[in-house]
Amino acid sequence: MQNPYTRRVVGRHSYVHRAQAELALTRPLLPGEVVHHIDEDKANNEASNLMIFKNESSHQLVHKLAKEDVTLIQCDDGAYLAVRKLRVCAVCGREFALPRHAKKTQKHCSPECGRKSLRRVDRPSKEELIKLVYALPMLQLSKQFGVSDKAIAKWCNEYGIEKPPVGYWAKRRSLGH
Ligand SMILES: [Zn+2]
Ligand SMILES: [Zn+2]
Repeated sequence: MQNPYTRRVVGRHSYVHRAQAELALTRPLLPGEVVHHIDEDKANNEASNLMIFKNESSHQLVHKLAKEDVTLIQCDDGAYLAVRKLRVCAVCGREFALPRHAKKTQKHCSPECGRKSLRRVDRPSKEELIKLVYALPMLQLSKQFGVSDKAIAKWCNEYGIEKPPVGYWAKRRSLGH
C-alpha cells in the first residue's frame, strides 16, 4: 500500500530516518519531534530501530541514560521503560547491575570480587605453574591463588601444561609423599 506521506516527506527532508519514522507513524512528524536511533547506528533506519521524541531535551535524556548503562525496553503499550543493564561478574559469574557512579570498565560485582580479579593478575609463569600443579592438588592450589580450580585449569590450558593424570594424588598419598 502506498503510504500517503511518502512523497511529501521525502520531498521535504533529505533524512531517511525521518521519512522512515513518518512511514511507521503514518503521520508527519510534528514540529520539534526528534527521531532517535535505538542502537545508535545512524545507518540502521529500520522502523524498529527508530524512536520518536517530542523534543530535543527528552531525546537527550535517552543519550544520557545510555551513558549510565541503562537499556530501554518497549512495553506492550508502546511506552519505553529504562532498565539497568546487567553484566556478568568476571570473577564469580553472577549477574549484577553497575552502580550508578561506578567506572564503565568495572567487570566485577563486588569489592570482594574486585580484589580477587586483581589477584588473578599474579598468574605464575609457565615454569612455576608446572612445578605447582605437580606439587599441590588443584583445590589447594586454587585456594593459594584465590581463584577457582577452573581458573587454574584454564591457565594450564593456555600454557599448554598437562595436568597430573587421574589417580596421581591417590598414588602419591599411598606412597606416603
Ligand atoms: Zn539519538
Ligand atoms: Zn562477583
